Amino acid sequence: MKAQTTRQNVVDLCRELAGRGFLAGTGGNIALRIDSEHFAVTPSATDYYAMDAADVSVLRIADLSQIEGARAPSVESNLHARVLRARPDCDASIHTHQPVASACALLGKPLAVTEPEWQRLLGAQVALVGYAPSGTGWLAAKLSKTLRPSINAYLMKNHGVLCCAPNFAKAVQTVAALESVAADHLRRQILARAEAEPARRPALQRVLDALAKSAAAAPAVATISSPSTP
Ligand SMILES: [Zn+2]
Repeated sequence: MKAQTTRQNVVDLCRELAGRGFLAGTGGNIALRIDSEHFAVTPSATDYYAMDAADVSVLRIADLSQIEGARAPSVESNLHARVLRARPDCDASIHTHQPVASACALLGKPLAVTEPEWQRLLGAQVALVGYAPSGTGWLAAKLSKTLRPSINAYLMKNHGVLCCAPNFAKAVQTVAALESVAADHLRRQILARAEAEPARRPALQRVLDALAKSAAAAPAVATISSPSTP
């Protein structure tokens, strides 16, 4: 019974995240803990809007053996199992290619989390996991080494992000907070560049405008005064 509810929660969470622009196409995947031994995970390469609870796989956390599910489980199941093993306080593990935080994953640096509201969800920083190809044991091992009890968001270099959350309800908030932190970081970088290079202000303003549109959860929209404006 718990397994059925959790599988439906996976479907609902995917649609919620897709609706808010954090999941696109078939990129990204989600795992929710069912009990101490099992988790539910999105099927491999399936459209979030076409998927139903019967498609969601139920796997054993210890060895990834498949107990239920009409389709093959996500190629990142190993990644999620590592998170659920290392973080018994978290029942949700979410991997996305969400646009702004994934752009920060290209920059290859951890992010400081400054706002208390974001710190409560994410911890004091967003950690960086070195590059390894998607769906490999290599990537799972690299993430596993980086996992910390106090950090709930990870940039996976040149790929995307991983968030963990105590429960289903906090999962969307955590993913949204990460997008806000990433947008805030990029905005600060752009403003600093505009300060240093006045001739580039109009072009940088266009980047800020694009950022404000894509970061649905981002806070303030910044404006650079153009070089001709006093
Ligand atoms: Zn991915």
